[in-house]
Amino acid sequence: MRIILLGPPGVGKGTQAKILMKRFSIPQLSTGDILRTEIDTKTELGILAKSIMNEGKLVPDNVMLNMMEKRLQEDDTINGYILDGFPRTLPQAKGLEKILKILVQRLNGVIAIKADEGILVERLSNRRSCKKCNAITNLIFDPPRVEGKCNQCGGELFQRDDDKPEVILDRLEVYKKQTEPLINYYAELQLLKEVDGSGTINEITINILRELE
Ligand code: AMP
Repeated sequence: MRIILLGPPGVGKGTQAKILMKRFSIPQLSTGDILRTEIDTKTELGILAKSIMNEGKLVPDNVMLNMMEKRLQEDDTINGYILDGFPRTLPQAKGLEKILKILVQRLNGVIAIKADEGILVERLSNRRSCKKCNAITNLIFDPPRVEGKCNQCGGELFQRDDDKPEVILDRLEVYKKQTEPLINYYAELQLLKEVDGSGTINEITINILRELE
């Protein structure tokens, strides 16, 4: 199964991708996570991406397409994958088409998860990530049992720089301008499946699985 999870920041793409990854035994390819690893290991790409990401802007399309062209050829993608955070612009979507043609692969569907802006801002400002296992948690819906520690592995929780209030609204604006047009693009390709992302984690998973049946 090859699917794209599309939707604004905070809608739950990462959380749902991790659930689907376990259920279907296929990898979650999160461009945000790949870039954050590049930043942590101080590679050339990481150095380029850091300030762009901290401002909530998008890393250039050609950089993303080169990165994903390589990633999509790795062995673990052979039985499928969940694209989380990619493509994010029309040129990226068109570039992905070309890559898939070369790899002789087709997408099974594009799941667009939707929620009101108020919900997104609340989720993003209360989101914390684990330094050790990458788990995503929420201070309100899934508060840490021990303050500052991950419920799953005990690792240290931190707030992403781009989840700080001053960057959140810019990221939502970037989404509206640059990523939202992909909804029509994939609707025209008859790949789009829309899902309500305003409920609980469980409810959203059920909505997605229904669309994938
Ligand atoms: P995410 O973890 O998906 O919210 O991504 C965090 C940040 O990484 C974004 O705000 C962008 O700066 C950058 N990023 C992730 N994926 C992409 C992409 N497909 N195109 C451009 N920038 C990206």
